Amino acid sequence: MLTKKAILFIVDGLGGRPTDLDGETCLEAAETPNLDRISSGGINGLLHTVRRGVKPGSDVAHLSILSYDPQEGYTGRGVFEALGYGMETEKGCIYFRTNFATVDEKNVVEDRRAGRIEEGQEELEEAINSIELEDVDFRFKATNQHRGALELKGEGLSPHITDTDPHESGEKIKSCEPADSSEEARRTADIVNEFTKKARGVMKNLELNRRREDDGKYPANCLLVRGASQMMDVESLKEKFGVESACVGAGPLYLGVAKQVGMETRKPEGATGDFDSDLISKAEAAVDELENKDFVFIHVKGADNAGHDHDADRKKKFLEKVDEAVGHLLENLDWERTHMVFTGDHTTPIDYGNHTAEPVPIVYYGPKVRTDSVEEIGERPCAEGGLGHMEGLDVLPVLFNFNDWTDKYGS
Ligand SMILES: [Zn+2]
Repeated sequence: MLTKKAILFIVDGLGGRPTDLDGETCLEAAETPNLDRISSGGINGLLHTVRRGVKPGSDVAHLSILSYDPQEGYTGRGVFEALGYGMETEKGCIYFRTNFATVDEKNVVEDRRAGRIEEGQEELEEAINSIELEDVDFRFKATNQHRGALELKGEGLSPHITDTDPHESGEKIKSCEPADSSEEARRTADIVNEFTKKARGVMKNLELNRRREDDGKYPANCLLVRGASQMMDVESLKEKFGVESACVGAGPLYLGVAKQVGMETRKPEGATGDFDSDLISKAEAAVDELENKDFVFIHVKGADNAGHDHDADRKKKFLEKVDEAVGHLLENLDWERTHMVFTGDHTTPIDYGNHTAEPVPIVYYGPKVRTDSVEEIGERPCAEGGLGHMEGLDVLPVLFNFNDWTDKYGS
């Protein structure tokens, strides 16, 4: 263990636009005394998590911030969800996110989430795992509600295939198609189509679904797959920087990305990955992890969810909860030997309700940081800061430089 400590705090969907709330962004409008304290005592700037002008998905944004170039081996989101759900993953296997869904006789999806089914996950999992496929092994794991993960294992498989999930109710299930001209992609697409057909066969006759139909509920009679992907073949954070690290989070995607890069993961009591998450519990868990780790990454999700729901008031309130969690870190860590970077993974404006390409505020705080003249946090105050504009891949090297954890380039 090293003597110094480092923290990365990511607020999912942190950034906003001045149209969020009467001329201010949610972050600018929120009461944030602790974040203002780190801004005024730190160095500020704007972060393009992938590249200027790119609207990042949360998965690639997080990979970039953790110093992994998504262009080197990122194939899709499914593998991170599988890891985040606690599935053991292997190189060469193909992973998918899955949904239990309801389809009619004509293969039209009536509900993409089978009425957000809360029962029968074990029965469904067992039925699906009883299928046999030619030439390939597979494992299916049901998690919560309609969600789950699927692994295909065998020789000559490819992640370059399309989703069967039409992504909207009222549309037909899509046939899985190869997304490149390789034989592996053709073969994998054929396997997915065979699997989908056989899964429907065993799901439609389940007692659970008969009961649900009698009760007027959506039966879980189909499994939709999306996000075909493979493990990335990358060095761990320990191999790259020599740091022992942990992630404190709740959403399976984020826990999965952290596992992919070799971090331990912890979902503390009360952490939900949504607006109601107990962020003090997360801050306490981070303080606890830093007892025997060098570097901790804290992820919070609620601001992004509020952005997707076009709910400015909720986003502002969530950012005030984030501020309290940062206050807990300020009170409970040794700031003589700790450096923190506070930022977001992308902008999620209230009116747009999805990710956009504007950069997000970024602040470094700690004893060795050259301060600037910024006095409060916000998209526009941070634009005036001493860091200027940064890209995601630089976030950790800049943080670890303050702790003297990076090597000299050249002699
Ligand atoms: Zn995100």
